[in-house]
Order: sequence, then C-alpha cells, then structure tokens
Amino acid sequence: MAALTMTTPLSPNLSLNEIAERLQGYDPQALSARHVNDFLAQLVQPVREQETVPLMQAHGRILAQDVVSPISVPPHDNSAMDGYALRGAELLSDRPTPLQVVGTAFAGSAWQGTVNAGECVRIMTGAIMPTGLDTVAPQELVKVDGDRVQIPPGLLQAGDNRRLLGEDLMAGQPALRAGTRIAPAACGLLASLGLPSVPVWRKPKVAYFSTGDEILSLGEAPREGAVYDSNRYTVAGLVQALGCELIDMGVVRDEPAALEQAFVDAAAQADAIITSGGVSVGEADHTKAMMKKLGDVAFWRIAMRPGRPMAVGRIERGERSALLFGLPGNPVAVMVTFAAFVRPALQQLMGWQAPALPLLKAKSTEALRKKPGRTEYQRGIVRTNPAGKLEVSITGNQGSGVLSSMMQANGLIVLGHAQGNVAVGDEVDVMMFDGHL
Ligand code: AMP
Ligand code: MG
Repeated sequence: MAALTMTTPLSPNLSLNEIAERLQGYDPQALSARHVNDFLAQLVQPVREQETVPLMQAHGRILAQDVVSPISVPPHDNSAMDGYALRGAELLSDRPTPLQVVGTAFAGSAWQGTVNAGECVRIMTGAIMPTGLDTVAPQELVKVDGDRVQIPPGLLQAGDNRRLLGEDLMAGQPALRAGTRIAPAACGLLASLGLPSVPVWRKPKVAYFSTGDEILSLGEAPREGAVYDSNRYTVAGLVQALGCELIDMGVVRDEPAALEQAFVDAAAQADAIITSGGVSVGEADHTKAMMKKLGDVAFWRIAMRPGRPMAVGRIERGERSALLFGLPGNPVAVMVTFAAFVRPALQQLMGWQAPALPLLKAKSTEALRKKPGRTEYQRGIVRTNPAGKLEVSITGNQGSGVLSSMMQANGLIVLGHAQGNVAVGDEVDVMMFDGHL
C-alpha cells in the first residue's frame, strides 16, 4: 500500500532550562505570546505510535505515512458528458459535421468496436473513450436523425468534454503527505485510490482536571461562594474537537494528597495533562507546589490579556512522560490560552502538520485601548457591512470570566505585542472561530 515515510528525527528531550537557554529574551515573568509558542514547539515530542484504521473510522485522524497513489484516477480517458464521441480533427469549422453513429459506450465497460473516418459513438458520462476518439459533443448540441448526427460548427474544440487518465491523481505520485489531517475531502480521496484502511498516529490521551475549593461539580447543590465547573466542559470539547482522547478527571480538591494522587494517576495514562486554576501569583493553594514537586515545570507570567499566568512542563512517571499545561482558572482565559498555546502544542503532539490559519483583517468599528508590550485577545463580532467590507466590533463585557462573551463572539481580535491603541476604522487581525472553539 503506502510507502513508509521518513519522519523528522526526534530531537532529544530537552529540560525546561535547556529550552529556556536557547530562547533569546526568555523572561518567565514577562513572556511574549511568541516566546510561549516557540518554547512549546521545542518541548513537545509527537506521539510516534502508528495504528491502522478502516477508512470509515479515519475522519479527523492524522496520516502517519505519505500515501503514494497505487492507481491513476481516473483510470482511463473518459467522457465528461452524455453525447457523441468523435475525432476532434474531423470537426468542420464552416458547416455542420455529419457523422454516422456506430455504437454506444456505457459507463462501466469498454466499448469494443472500431470507429472509421466519418463515424462517432454515442457515449455516456464516465464511459471509457473508444480508441482513437478524443472529443465529446454534448447531446444537447447535436442534431440527431436516426443513426446520423450533425455537429454544428464553432461550438467544439478537439479534446473538449474528455477527462484524462490520471488528471486527478497519477499512479506513483504522492497523493497525501504524512501529518495531514484526514478531513472529509482527504477521506474521499483515499477512497478514490481504493485504500480500505490507512496508517494514522495514535490519538494522544489528554487528562484534564479542574482545581479550586470553590468549584462545584454538576449535580452538587449551589453554595455560597462556589461556582459550577465550566472549564471541565469547555476543555473537554476543545480537546475532543481537536481529535485527542479525553481522560476526564473532574474536580480535584485543593489538598496536597488529592492533587498528588491526581497528577500521578494522570501522568501514568496520559500524554498530556491539562489543569485549570491555582497557577496565579499568590495563590493560597497547593496546585503549584504539587506541580513543582512532581515535575519539571515553569511558571510563567505571559504578556497577554486575558490569561496571564500559566504553568508548563513535564511530569515523568517511570518510562512515561506527560506534558503539563496548568491553565488559569478564568473561563475565558482557559479558552484563549488553549487557542493560543495549547492547541498548537497538541497539534504537534498529534503529529498534525497543521497549516497556520490565516488571520482575517477587519476594520474596527470602535476605538480600542491597547498597551504595547502585551498581546490582547478581545472577543469580536465580525460582520460584512453594507459596503461589503468586513468590520469587527467587540462584545460588550470583556471580563475574563464572562463566558457568554465567547458565545456572542465569532472570533478573537488579536492585538499584537507591539501594537498600541486602535482607532475607529483601523484594520485589526481576527482569529476566526473555526468550529474548534
Ligand atoms: P484561579 O486561576 O484559580 O485564581 O481562578 C480564577 C477565577 O476562575 C476564579 O474566579 C475561579 O472561581 C474561576 N474558576 C477557576 N476554575 C474554574 C472552573 N473550573 N470553572 C469555572 N470557573 C473557574
Ligand atoms: Mg484558585
């Protein structure tokens, strides 16, 4: 079937200190968004275990090997229309071309007869072009009189309405590259090559738990000062929409023994661990201390809004090593840090050579205050104005706990690190929600 690919050789597991030393201008107390991405790109080792899955179950998976076309698609020159197959060289330019119909070519089998000068073959869409014929006159153009037809002049050129062998995919040529996500078009393409199953990378397992003593699980009675755990549900959706397997560990109490048990359990099964809450500066909780005790972890203050604090690292359990993403607790900050940092890191873990999605440019309908020196992600509503141009406004309340703003928005306005205030009518970048957010 598919030829084995050379995958990029794995770089050795670098410690966080080694990665930090390689990054120019690394400052854990004021890290730019770009530094975070660069750091994670060096930290994450892709899951390099292959499995073969039936094509019907391959949707959303990441191809583990290049696929070389075993056949050409289409396998023969064939007709793109119902009509009459003829020799293009016989078409007259100044008067109708008269032709004698000598047979009918149906899709699914080759018509075996021979065609002499002045003759044509009735042909159906998809039927193999009879030997020597290169052009199809669509039936609606043709005057038919019994077994004789007339092709009007000036409407057809030699080669029209014929599909060429291999014009879609040629045997022996690469059809899909390793690292491609198998979206519906890729699934169909693999099917067109006759491949019943495909080699894909194993789905990374991602464990998640929420931390914080004020966090209520669903089903618990409301109580003063407590909030329901929404992060568990947003992260579950984000992780699964990306194509990773979720290990849902619920809410973990802010007690050293419970946290230690949770981290140890998670690291024993998962390729990555995501937590929310308890990584802010001055948190009176045990999450940070436990991360530090069990793993190689850096605690960052990122020059961004929302979502300043974040912990990143690795927890080793025997042979296994799990990535760790300690996200802030605020519900919008969780989604924004996921979109900006965790998603690209998980894509790398999946082996997905994801093409960078272009940001949209839209004119801001309002003035936005922005301090240079940090990246801001504002929830935005992009629409087409009456002049047909894209414009964007921000949702009312930009509080980092206001999850309903993520519902009103259809994208995040990304105000870059160096950017200052935005005036009405200025163009801004927008990361559109693409169904994964
Ligand atoms: P923290 O990062 O722990 O200081 O939390 C910041 C804010 O996010 C606090 O108001 C928390 O109550 C809230 N928060 C933390 N975890 C969650 C969660 N799992 N679901 C909803 N809100 C949360
Ligand atoms: Mg907390």
